[in-house]
Amino acid sequence: MQLRAIPAFADNYIWMLDDELGNALVVDPGAAEPVEAALQTHDLRLRTILITHHHPDHIGGLQSLAAHHHPHVFAPDDARIGGAWRRVQHGEMLTLAAPASHAVVLALPGHTRSHVAYHLAPWLFCGDALFSLGCGRLFEGTPMDLLLSMQRIAALPPETLICAAHEYTLANAAFALSVEPDNAALQARRAQVQSLRAHGQPSLPVALADECASNPFLRWEAPAVRAWCAAQGAAQGSAAACLGALRAGKDGFQA
Ligand code: ZN
Ligand code: FE
Repeated sequence: MQLRAIPAFADNYIWMLDDELGNALVVDPGAAEPVEAALQTHDLRLRTILITHHHPDHIGGLQSLAAHHHPHVFAPDDARIGGAWRRVQHGEMLTLAAPASHAVVLALPGHTRSHVAYHLAPWLFCGDALFSLGCGRLFEGTPMDLLLSMQRIAALPPETLICAAHEYTLANAAFALSVEPDNAALQARRAQVQSLRAHGQPSLPVALADECASNPFLRWEAPAVRAWCAAQGAAQGSAAACLGALRAGKDGFQA
């Protein structure tokens, strides 16, 4: 299977997976045109669409693509994602007809209440729940939701490849380094991403093991992160309070 990152808007990626038979899957088609162009360029048939959450930059192309290609569409159970789609639940394993594969659904509340991810090993299509070196804003969830979601991601195999929906990595690195300036893995990741971006390459996907070593939102147990959270007034020993402090710190951060 071949993974492709289709750029859309200013900084979205629409992830595409295709097999040697010419069957393609896309995740979160916020726009139809770049998907149609990629299907043409690579001579692929769109057979499956996976939706992580209801935001327009993730579903804007859904109706048009569904009307033209009649793919199987999987989506969270949320009326804000209109259509007679197959609705998914946390923990279920989906059988995808084409590209022939299996995907496990993870509920990842926080950014939105019905946000899900699809673990189609080795890839995790996680929408706006997790970014490289960061996470999505808490629009509809609590720090406890964020903790639950980060714990679910952290429990996946370390070789899992994180396919997030936005290229936010360099901006996230600035905040992450303000939390953990002495983290060598984080410093190395920023240098790697600076080089990738200077050459016009995506910073994604990234291995979960690398994120666990560098992303503060997956590092609430690291002493330096705990100390930073305590200095922000987060209750000592509360992982949820720490994640809340990190998220609030990122919301107000100016590089
Ligand atoms: Zn979003
Ligand atoms: Fe988004």
